[in-house]
Amino acid sequence: APIIQFENVNKWYPSNGYHVLRDINLSFAKGEKVVICGPSGSGKSTLIRCINALEEYQEGKIIVDGTVVGDDVKGVDRVRREVGMVFQQFNLFPHLTVLENLILSPTWVAKMPRNEAIEKAMAQLERVRIAEHADKYPLQLSGGQQQRVAIARSLCLTPKIMLFDEPTSALDPEMIKEVLDVMIGLTDQGMTMLCVTHEMGFAKAVADRVIFMDQGQVVEQNTPEEFFNNP
Ligand code: ADP
Ligand code: ADP
Repeated sequence: APIIQFENVNKWYPSNGYHVLRDINLSFAKGEKVVICGPSGSGKSTLIRCINALEEYQEGKIIVDGTVVGDDVKGVDRVRREVGMVFQQFNLFPHLTVLENLILSPTWVAKMPRNEAIEKAMAQLERVRIAEHADKYPLQLSGGQQQRVAIARSLCLTPKIMLFDEPTSALDPEMIKEVLDVMIGLTDQGMTMLCVTHEMGFAKAVADRVIFMDQGQVVEQNTPEEFFNNP
């Protein structure tokens, strides 16, 4: 069974009636790496935010690892424990150190002894090669380093699924590569990864599939090879 499934999903924003997702039918296999691209405003961000219930949808069904998203609060909790998310803005707490940003997250630290939480957090910081900055504050780091911290924070959940929403869009060009390298380094762990991005480096290097959206619809799906060879 697919780990994520969209069945006839429709969403509009009640505030302005904007029909942002139109009849979305998609499924993602466990471990699949998918890039979602398309013009600004085409619904990419909304699509992935529906997966972990950051957005509601009006029609259809989204099933994440056997749980229907949106049915009840318990289901939402279960899904959020399995889904890590990285945003364009790193969303780190500026008044906490890098390490504190990781270990003060209640979702994974709950009831864990402090030493164990620190050990786990340091292991994730090492995985994104930022452990030496554990005691610094986010604003002492470059944008690329801050995004790596945000990735490490998501990894603390040991998520089955990672969602990336324009993870390199706020970065200077020289920092994009270090974040891409970290993301590419995560692809051998069997985690399902969906990435909304204009940056095609990730797609070319590791994606199994590229999805192109326009005006709330999926208008093309292909392997990267086919996608980049068919202008
Ligand atoms: P992006 O394309 O990077 O997602 P947007 O500028 O479309 O950025 O949206 C930025 C934020 O503003 C998002 O959280 C989005 O949900 C919200 N937003 C976008 N359009 C509207 C709108 N018409 N009314 C209210 N909020 C909006
Ligand atoms: P993309 O990620 O492809 O840029 P989004 O999913 O962010 O697209 O948004 C698609 C469109 O939906 C936006 O251009 C905006 O018009 C509308 N939208 C997004 N967020 C909101 C919101 N919170 N309220 C109302 N409209 C929104």
